[in-house]
Amino acid sequence: MAEEIKEPRANNFIENIIEEDLAAGFPANALRFRFPPEPNGYLHLGHASSICLNFGLGLRYNAPVNLRFDDTNPSKEEQEYVDAIRRDVQWLGFQWDKECYASDYFQELYDWAVMLIKQGKAYVDKQTSEEIAAQKGTPTVAGTDSPYRNTSPEENLALFERMKNGEFANGTYVLRAKIDMASANMLMRDPIIYRIMNASHHRTGDKWHIYPMYDWAHGESDYLEQISHSLCTLEFLPHRELYDWFLDQVYDSTRTRPKQREFARRNLSHTIVSKRKLLQLVTENYVAGWDDPRMPTISGLRRRGYTPESIRKFADTIGIAKRENLIDVSLLEFCVREDLNKKANRVMAVLDPVKVVITNYPEGQEEWLEAENNPEVTPMTYRKVPFGRELYIERDDFREEADKKYFRLKLGGEVRLKNAYIIKAESVVKDAEGNITEIHCTYDPDSRSGSGTEASMRKVKGTLHWVSIAHAVAAEARLYDRLFTVPEPDRQEDSFLNYINPESLKVVTAYVEPSLTTAKAGETLQFQRLGYFCVDPDSTAEKLVFNKTVGLKDTWEKIKSE
Ligand code: ATP
Ligand code: MG
Repeated sequence: MAEEIKEPRANNFIENIIEEDLAAGFPANALRFRFPPEPNGYLHLGHASSICLNFGLGLRYNAPVNLRFDDTNPSKEEQEYVDAIRRDVQWLGFQWDKECYASDYFQELYDWAVMLIKQGKAYVDKQTSEEIAAQKGTPTVAGTDSPYRNTSPEENLALFERMKNGEFANGTYVLRAKIDMASANMLMRDPIIYRIMNASHHRTGDKWHIYPMYDWAHGESDYLEQISHSLCTLEFLPHRELYDWFLDQVYDSTRTRPKQREFARRNLSHTIVSKRKLLQLVTENYVAGWDDPRMPTISGLRRRGYTPESIRKFADTIGIAKRENLIDVSLLEFCVREDLNKKANRVMAVLDPVKVVITNYPEGQEEWLEAENNPEVTPMTYRKVPFGRELYIERDDFREEADKKYFRLKLGGEVRLKNAYIIKAESVVKDAEGNITEIHCTYDPDSRSGSGTEASMRKVKGTLHWVSIAHAVAAEARLYDRLFTVPEPDRQEDSFLNYINPESLKVVTAYVEPSLTTAKAGETLQFQRLGYFCVDPDSTAEKLVFNKTVGLKDTWEKIKSE
């Protein structure tokens, strides 16, 4: 369960609504919430906000929260998505009370539709969708009645029955609620509540040939589950009147009447939170799948090395709002960095190696030095790292010449090798093209870290990470960056696909210390001075694969302005 100690904070506006309801006499033990995904894709960071909101309310008020699959459109929904959604909600740290499916209510929804027909409040329309659309009117001009609006209940019942039995082709007939063709709210102008779809449903199979529309199914499902507060995103604000009209038709005053309230969608910079567009990235192979570590999906973030705590912290920090705004992805990165700083062991890996030879270190000698695992954890634990005459350091950590502000290695200068000795660069070896192939150094044998000698305490400005060439393990490192180059890829004049960052994935060979050979898929580590990395599920005993989760600092602003 997600139960980190929360700092007290002001109520958000949804909590204020609930507090007012409780103050007005609504019984606390009748509070009930739901998270209602449509299983037509994987959950993304926008959903995480809704999950944290609903399950957060459940924890705060000790109230049950249902996981409801809004599975009313068989043409887009699949069991694979149901399974992924269950896994992701659980992984985020939440447990639902009941697992529900709108499809479990198909019979009740049908019976209620029959009731509406009998009461003269619903009718079968034989017109095409174009004809129906043409009669809708505009917000300022009333719509026109369908020629079928006054068909008798008997005739409607017979037709509806035949629709249900699969006698008609897709799109031929619809069932419409008979509300008000002149309503100022266009959604009240005789909305469609059933359509014919001769499609197999992932749960009900071929039983149904008609499927309820979202508006009809959603509110009635809330009512059947006795949800007290049905929270949805702002685009449903105009649907609230219809939600209430549908409830009025079935409401029994001894039961809880659900209340729809709306909050703003969360948008995140440099990415996309729309299942439809994410599906396009997957099907058109812009990414390797829904769980590609560049995707803003929960499964992508998990594979990237994000923790549930960091995602919950992010959702909590941005809170919920009444108006839409764009959240900078750096905030998400900040949250994971902060969490991993506490949890991840420090290790050494070199991503762009250049060879260092310590000329005064005896050939064939090796030492296993103590290295700190994580200074944030008490008591401190240690591991052994091997040291030898030949090492790799990062190519970028050496300059032949550099000014005083350069604290890494330069000719004639000294640095400390992390957990090891102080070395001094004496000369370089170059190939025919002038590239440095070896840096020859000397070391101070008395300067070993932790040895207690005066030399070991000597302060030199720079400390570098390194690996012993004889012991290093070659691994694949997948270096990820933002998937899009612009903050709002889906608000450009042309397709969001034109803004994919070509540098969003670079694959390099990393040389890692041998302690990592036992690292398990999902394990997260800090590669010192480089960033947080986690072991990808593609990793095998023969070949380790690491994903870069995030760098140690926010470098994006700097790169952009270069
Ligand atoms: P998408 O456009 O990605 O398909 P959706 O809203 O259609 O999103 P649903 O499966 O219907 O996806 O959403 C389940 C719940 O998550 C809904 O209550 C929805 O309002 C909420 N939700 C979806 N996207 C966001 C978002 N970006 N911010 C906050 N809540 C969201
Ligand atoms: Mg939806």
